[in-house]
Amino acid sequence: MRSTSSDSKAERLLIVGWDGADWDVLDPLMRDGYMPTLDEITRTGFRSELASTIPSHSWAAWSSFLTGMNPGRHGVYDFVEVDPKEPQRRIPISSGSIKSPTFLDSLAAAGRETRIANVPVTYPPFPVRGRLISGIAIPPGAGFVYPPEWATELDRRAPFPTNGMEWTAFEERPAELIAEAEAIEAQRTESFLAMLEGDWSVATCVNLLPDRLQHPFSRYLIKSHPQYQRLAGTELAESLRKAYGSLDHHLARLRSAAGRNVTTIVMSDHGFRAVTRRVNPNALLVELGFQSMLRGAGMKTALLKSTVGRALSRTRMGHLAKRKVRAPSVIDWSRTVAYQSGTGFGVSVNLSGREPGGIVPRRDYDRIREEIRDALLSYRDRETGTSPVRAVWSREELYQGPSTHLAPDLVIEWNELWDYKDVGGLSMRVDWPSGDHRREGILAAAGGRTVHGSVEMHDIADVAATALAFCGISPSGLDGRPIPEIAGDTGTVQVIPHAPARGSAALGGDDEDSIVEHLRGLGYVE
Ligand SMILES: [Zn+2]
Repeated sequence: MRSTSSDSKAERLLIVGWDGADWDVLDPLMRDGYMPTLDEITRTGFRSELASTIPSHSWAAWSSFLTGMNPGRHGVYDFVEVDPKEPQRRIPISSGSIKSPTFLDSLAAAGRETRIANVPVTYPPFPVRGRLISGIAIPPGAGFVYPPEWATELDRRAPFPTNGMEWTAFEERPAELIAEAEAIEAQRTESFLAMLEGDWSVATCVNLLPDRLQHPFSRYLIKSHPQYQRLAGTELAESLRKAYGSLDHHLARLRSAAGRNVTTIVMSDHGFRAVTRRVNPNALLVELGFQSMLRGAGMKTALLKSTVGRALSRTRMGHLAKRKVRAPSVIDWSRTVAYQSGTGFGVSVNLSGREPGGIVPRRDYDRIREEIRDALLSYRDRETGTSPVRAVWSREELYQGPSTHLAPDLVIEWNELWDYKDVGGLSMRVDWPSGDHRREGILAAAGGRTVHGSVEMHDIADVAATALAFCGISPSGLDGRPIPEIAGDTGTVQVIPHAPARGSAALGGDDEDSIVEHLRGLGYVE
């Protein structure tokens, strides 16, 4: 009964997502022969850049990938969002948080079979016409496969390892992290291969290895890191290059499993850059005079650990104590003009009538935002004289759509060599991590209808539009535009996407706890 995929004569689109992949890391590896498959794709097809969302945050970016829309329409900006039932509480983002249909819904409406595995923000699993393996973060023991009946077969043939690669725990044993990343990606590739059997038109498989290794190891991988010259010749650097080599080998296997008539896209949700210093966004807002903290015994540590991460770390305690979880209480709201409202990148005005303890009158909103923007941009680090802030955007500059009001009032892009965390003093030097996200990710494609040549930079929302156009479906209504060098110039028909059946955003308390635990392991929350 089961047709093997290599028999398929129908045209297929295989999208391989490498979370965090960046040409600055990959180019030297291709040049030195570690990545022959990617090298061949770029030589026979094309290579370009793919612009991430701002912030270049995996949850926002993969949601734009899935929907072909900007965050103002799909509503995902961060790891957490406001609990609709209790506005002062923050809950982890889940697939139910995505407020618009995905390209999978449109393909289903057109009768097309799909496969999708390990895309972040797809837990809990939701119905697709085909098969789905959820991506991070998956609570232990939870069902993460659609259709649920397929889970037994997947488990028997190629068990899918959930989560993992929590790099923050490996500072003293870096070689073990590389080994774990390689082992997980090898196992996941077996799961992907099992999933790719049967008939399908579009498949997506995501590997997380680049992001998980580049956060800690960019100083071994990115030339612009000041330590790169010293470290590139080490044994650890060589084992990193080999890990990327294994990823390239997995790409070759996925491609050949997809059959002869396959168009392959390799893309990332954001790029990567070197980091040598870290700023504490909360402490910065206090330093600039916009945020005020309550004083008192034992408050000092809490002060420096406030906001979302702090609120999250309380979910566990709150849950155990069967108490409601509240937003951090250490901020003195009666003297706070603006506060950190997104994990490390978002600032919101403490607006009267909108925030529970709002003090800024609505008429001052625009002026205050400009003051905050100016102050952030003109701030200089005392030790290095450099500016941690590259750009500050108002939300209307970045987003359009009914969920724009869910965004922070201002969105910060951090500068070259800087990342952020809500711990420590105002700023500090760091070696671990030594890399962080940047907007410019990778896009390469080859095979099928792909043209050979140079292609302009595209937006991550364009990939969903491309998948639809590839199948002859009109992408009208999306923000993304089809990439003609991949989709070709076929006539397109209109379909109404099946209404997403992704359930409500709220997860159970235990699920929330384990998701937060994983995010902490990835260094995203404190
Ligand atoms: Zn990352």
